[in-house]
Amino acid sequence: MFHTVLIANRGEIACRIIRTLRELGIRSVAVYSDADAGARHVHLADTAVRLGPAPAAQSYLDAEAVLEAARQSGADAIHPGYGFLAENAGFALACEAAGVSFIGPTSEAISVMGDKITAKHAVEARGVPTVPGVARSGMSDAELAASADEVGYPLLIKPSAGGGGKGMHVVDSESALIPALTAARREAAASFGDDTLFLERYISHPRHIEVQVLADAHGAVVHLGERECSLQRRHQKVIEEAPSPLLDERTRERIGAAACETARSVGYRGAGTVEFIVSADAPDEFFFMEMNTRLQVEHPVTEEVTGLDLVEQQLRVAAGEPLGFAQADVVLRGHSFEARVYAEDPASGFLPTGGHVASVQHPRGDGIRVDTALEDDLDVSTDYDPMLAKVISWGADREQARRRLVAALGETAVFGVVTNVEFLRMLLELPDVVAGRLDTDLIARELEGFSFARAEDRDFAEAALILDAAATRDTGPWARRDGWRLGDPVPRRYALRAGDEARTVSVGGAGVLTVGIDAHEQSAGVVFLDDTRVSVDIGGSVRTFSALRGEESVSLLRDGAVIDIGIERARHAADAAGQADPQLISPMPGTVVVARVADGDTVQVGDEIVVVEAMKMEHVVRSAVAGTVSLRVAPGETVSRGQTLAVVTPAASGPDTAPGAG
Ligand code: ADP
Ligand code: ADP
Ligand code: MG
Repeated sequence: MFHTVLIANRGEIACRIIRTLRELGIRSVAVYSDADAGARHVHLADTAVRLGPAPAAQSYLDAEAVLEAARQSGADAIHPGYGFLAENAGFALACEAAGVSFIGPTSEAISVMGDKITAKHAVEARGVPTVPGVARSGMSDAELAASADEVGYPLLIKPSAGGGGKGMHVVDSESALIPALTAARREAAASFGDDTLFLERYISHPRHIEVQVLADAHGAVVHLGERECSLQRRHQKVIEEAPSPLLDERTRERIGAAACETARSVGYRGAGTVEFIVSADAPDEFFFMEMNTRLQVEHPVTEEVTGLDLVEQQLRVAAGEPLGFAQADVVLRGHSFEARVYAEDPASGFLPTGGHVASVQHPRGDGIRVDTALEDDLDVSTDYDPMLAKVISWGADREQARRRLVAALGETAVFGVVTNVEFLRMLLELPDVVAGRLDTDLIARELEGFSFARAEDRDFAEAALILDAAATRDTGPWARRDGWRLGDPVPRRYALRAGDEARTVSVGGAGVLTVGIDAHEQSAGVVFLDDTRVSVDIGGSVRTFSALRGEESVSLLRDGAVIDIGIERARHAADAAGQADPQLISPMPGTVVVARVADGDTVQVGDEIVVVEAMKMEHVVRSAVAGTVSLRVAPGETVSRGQTLAVVTPAASGPDTAPGAG
């Protein structure tokens, strides 16, 4: 077995791999970029080596720097995790050349499977069914268009080098084909440096079902059952489970055998995943989509139902050990779900968030596992993938596993950074999800019906009480600026805001703690149980929950939703007068790519002012008022969420008579 293993990755997966290395008594080496100097994986590992500055190309994707770190730290093997260098055939070769074991398959297997076109041909030769389509490399737009009729509509355009759901386009009719091909080619070139495209029939009511395989270096191949990953948004997985509620025993056996055949087609070694698409309309027919030649994000659900540690298996195979079991020894037990916690805001179009995690609360309980990169006092940068953690549940049956995950997500709090936890919880409660009637369009279909938690009167009252108690405890009642004393009938007023909701809350008065909104007063009490747990009594109704106190703000956890309520020092004059906001605020952390106007320009309502980009997603910020613009940022500048980008001074005569620009 290896003595020292370097993990060429970051985030939750680096932490996850370190856990198994520790259990096996293997020394772990973390690598990090400047953005990650204080990250969890860095201090979990036995040693850590700096790779370079924040951009992935200069750190986690810099193969030479990673190999140098391996030399420096005496690592005899490299675990690539997923993403980054995990499916880079050149890197696998370079490892072998440097005398370091690459924990994964051969570079030939990576090459064949890394190109979806060659992968399809390889598995077809073994009798594995693939999605009907036209897949030849080097086809021009005209050639693809000429063969589109043969594929039929709707069809899917896919980049051959694709990954992460990027660059795929569903086309419903001939007229939309050429523009979609143009866009797909551009995106594929930008994301993968390869603009090869191919066409597949778009499977109706698609369900994504994938099979985990494990192969040793001596020719043994087994499968560890399937995972269903049909809950997707823009072709990216959100919630996964094992086993699939769709498959019957016979189909399960057939799809497992097809996955093993796929692995054999490239002499596979290690852990891999064979992805299939199944139409909900024909559940016993499956088609190969691609093989991921690495550990998958959602591998924990397979670990939960098989009792195997896949990272341990990867290490053993890479060290040359034969598999310690046969297909018949693989027994699936119970059911498991995984929910991916992303730094994104579902309430505003899933824009990426990020920022400073002041405090994090992970759920605990029977059958709950959390794979996470999060900890208190951590900066979440937008340089990398927005996935922060995974909450995983196991239950004796599907419903128990689902309920456990719902409960666990309700207790998950990431204070300081907006996440999708509330969305995940609501998703798991949808009737179709409860019934196991899944398909990859479900989220898009149901999204409109989602209503995210908003701050209510009771939340504002609780926030005011918590802030007031903190102020009173910190300074003592006699030292207060407003001269509050026992018996003083004058209450303290808090002007509070949560998003676009605002309330004024009064606290105190007449020597008894009372809280009032809109002159409706009730007796109140607040007890701090520990740093984050608090119990609040208002008029005899008690709620106990997690909360985080800041200097001027409080974050309350409500069933997986974190509600941030802050003191408003000066409510905008415009807001008080019921007018539109003259300030243009960045909706996400990112980089200013372009300013559409010059400082001092006259602008109209709805004019594009600034474009902010993060995670390859552009967001246009428009003026809500007419007037003269004053830019506060310049192209290339990094901005935080909520930062003022520009201010528009309304024309004195009012928006209706504002002069037209130019
Ligand atoms: P999974 O099924 O494991 O989620 P994905 O294809 O979605 O597989 O990718 C896994 C991880 O790797 C994600 O974090 C994704 O962003 C990243 N990833 C996948 N392909 C690429 C790529 N070509 N370049 C960079 N990152 C990628
Ligand atoms: P990636 O490498 O980006 O993961 P995949 O080929 O695995 O690309 O496809 C990503 C997702 O797109 C799948 O999980 C599935 O939801 C959807 N998809 C792919 N091929 C088809 C198809 N032919 N019909 C319908 N949906 C598809
Ligand atoms: Mg895929």
